[in-house]
Amino acid sequence: MDELLRRSEKLTTVGQLAAGVAHEIRNPLTTLRGFLQLQRETNRLSPQHNEIMLSELDRINLIVSEFLILAKPQAVQFQIKSIRSILNGVISLLDSQAHLFGIEFKFEFEPEDFKVHCEENQMKQVFINIIKNAIEAMEDGEDGGVITIELFQLNQEEIGITITDQGIGIPSDMMPKLGEPFFTSKEKGTGLGLMISQGIIEGHKGMLEIFSKPGKGTRVDIVLPLAGVRQQTYRYHHKEEEPIAD
Ligand code: ADP
Ligand code: MG
Repeated sequence: MDELLRRSEKLTTVGQLAAGVAHEIRNPLTTLRGFLQLQRETNRLSPQHNEIMLSELDRINLIVSEFLILAKPQAVQFQIKSIRSILNGVISLLDSQAHLFGIEFKFEFEPEDFKVHCEENQMKQVFINIIKNAIEAMEDGEDGGVITIELFQLNQEEIGITITDQGIGIPSDMMPKLGEPFFTSKEKGTGLGLMISQGIIEGHKGMLEIFSKPGKGTRVDIVLPLAGVRQQTYRYHHKEEEPIAD
């Protein structure tokens, strides 16, 4: 059964998120403190203890860096950009990781070079998050598989981008939790990727939906307004509804 996700209402402010970050960091810190105390008292830290301490530190580091993207957005600069070249850039970044697991990308791009009014770094962040999730859903599989990326015109005003994997899929009871901060099924996940992506797409007046079949795969649909079209529509409405008094 296909499941549908529209989670814009789950978007949390950075302030609320900070409490979550504190909570997420406190757990690994408690472990680290416990081990160091053990070291002080018994002088007996095993290599396994060391491994755990390192991975806990890595986890803290990952949570903090993903959070910083949210809390301190770099100079936000909306520009008219080719969505195809943003996608191509992201894919060349992730290509070697995918190949490690025998995963291939398949492109179904309409020939037209669609332009979107967007913040390029944020848009890259979205595609990195979504495509990484697709790779991670497939990397434990036996024989790789294909991630299909489509780019097409949806209607006069919008384009569609779909990213379809052949990974483990998402159990239906998990679907409502997607996009909640820190919801993750992965040992090394942060559970921030989808929430960040959702927020960015909303910020671009777009839409992000997730469909999944456990054991079969997952498809993420993104809809974005084409550059130019929307702005003209707004101007038109503005003129119609609010005539400027002289
Ligand atoms: P993270 O990847 O750090 O776990 P995300 O916010 O990116 O955090 O994803 C949250 C959860 O959603 C994942 O842990 C996983 O359970 C599920 N998920 C997201 N994308 C996919 C996918 N393509 N296939 C299967 N599960 C997915
Ligand atoms: Mg992720």
